[in-house]
Amino acid sequence: MHDLVIRGALLLDGLGSSPRHGDVGVRDGRIAEIGEVTDSAKETIDAGGLALMPGIIDNHTHYDAQLTWDPSASPSPALGVTTAIIGNCGFTIAPCRPADRDLVMRNLTQVEGMSLEVLRSGIRWEFESVPQYLDMLERRGAALNIASFVGHSALRSYVMGEAATQRVATDAEIAEMRALVLEAMRAGAIGFSTSTSPAHNGEAGVPMPSRLADEKELRALVVSLKDAGRGVFMLTKGGHTRMAFLEELAAQSTRPVVVAALLHSSTNPDAVFRDLDAARDATARGHKVVGAMSCCPLSMDFTLHSPYTFEGLESWKPALGKKDEAFRNVLRDPKFRNSMRKELATPAHFRLFNGQWSQVRVVESARKDLEQRSIAELAGQAGKDPLDFMLDLALEESLDTVFTALLLNSDEEAVGRMLRHPASMVSLSDAGAHLTFFNDAGFGLHLLGHWVRELGVLSLEDAARRLTGQPAAVFGIKERGVLKPGYQADLLLFDPASVNRGPNRRVFDLPGGHPRLTTDAVGVHGVWVNGVRIVRDGDLDRSRRPGRLLRDFA
Ligand SMILES: [Zn+2]
Repeated sequence: MHDLVIRGALLLDGLGSSPRHGDVGVRDGRIAEIGEVTDSAKETIDAGGLALMPGIIDNHTHYDAQLTWDPSASPSPALGVTTAIIGNCGFTIAPCRPADRDLVMRNLTQVEGMSLEVLRSGIRWEFESVPQYLDMLERRGAALNIASFVGHSALRSYVMGEAATQRVATDAEIAEMRALVLEAMRAGAIGFSTSTSPAHNGEAGVPMPSRLADEKELRALVVSLKDAGRGVFMLTKGGHTRMAFLEELAAQSTRPVVVAALLHSSTNPDAVFRDLDAARDATARGHKVVGAMSCCPLSMDFTLHSPYTFEGLESWKPALGKKDEAFRNVLRDPKFRNSMRKELATPAHFRLFNGQWSQVRVVESARKDLEQRSIAELAGQAGKDPLDFMLDLALEESLDTVFTALLLNSDEEAVGRMLRHPASMVSLSDAGAHLTFFNDAGFGLHLLGHWVRELGVLSLEDAARRLTGQPAAVFGIKERGVLKPGYQADLLLFDPASVNRGPNRRVFDLPGGHPRLTTDAVGVHGVWVNGVRIVRDGDLDRSRRPGRLLRDFA
């Protein structure tokens, strides 16, 4: 007798096979039988033609902090995600000594857009080392399965202290970091993560520690994965990091390399395709390199209080870390503005904002007549330069004006080509971070609704594969991501005719009542994690924690 049988579903196996109709029987948390199931069951669900696929594996999240106060990892499970990989980009909260906690939280505030008050009142610091952090996650449990990277920036701060943001590491420090990577890998980390991206700055504009690493340090740490015999190297790549160097690391470590963050820029339209082609060619040479791309348009809400949009610009440096009147004085300075204009007029390999003023809109202003209009249009009307218009408006309104910028991935023809590229992997939800700027935790539902049903760019079975079997294979996640007897019963039952993510809405449920953006699922009927139903018709049952901490990878 099965615990559960789902009858008459359109089965998408996660490997990209043609969909077929059938039943799935679940016993003891695993898929027991697929096809025509004749055994009886404690619970039977008539799928009535709904689609059943493995649960979505979200390979790029930042739930490291949130999981310590919210084991439901809201909103991901309600959006079909049954496994989340945390600790991307090198931004983990372990290892961390008690004395360094404030520094780590301050850095996250800046780079991941989390409020310091939320982190201070929310994070439960029941750990110091990576193994202790993993044990804590296991003890507390979660709604979904979790796998965690060991993060370079936390590691560097732990070993080098304040010098982590100031200089390259000595041989002795590299050896110590290497030993910690190995310790974390033995304890069950899924790999090693880092960032060389100039958009990644900590408090006061100080670069995140990993950005100070030279190639020697990176090589030593990545190649330690070879000694571990498993693990993936992921990095968020700055424009100066060469794909050829990353291929070398893949060759020397004999481990897969996942390169983020591939987003299409209309001002430099070929850049992502050069990276994807380089990844494809490396893989053809036997060195596995994968391009982590987003299937969502990247728009960001921001105020000048925390303008992540501009913080990666070289010319923004004089403003970084300044506060109050000193900050406003920099924004007023004509020399500062001119150097920004000059930089924006120069093409760059990868840059969040490239002066597309028609893509920047006013969302909330004391002057209601400005709302929903673009800076390009408003500046034109006022006979002003767009940068001057935006900064002057913000300064007039004590920097409270809310803007939104549609920055990247707005060209759907190009994003469609990226999606079909053999070296790409759908990724970059950044769930758990940037909580007030944007929210792509529903990226999987967006892929199924927008890119499959609305645009027809991918087939349903291929989209399902890209959300499940493909990331499971890249990250060596065992017995998940495929509908197969013996595999864990992580399942998503949905309606292909309506599936989508809903619009973003603001809720005030972070520690201390702080706001974040969230979104609801459309067309999701059920989500099961290890055979336990956690979502019923779109509603997450917060009392259940069937997720496991994953520690064993291929
Ligand atoms: Zn990230």
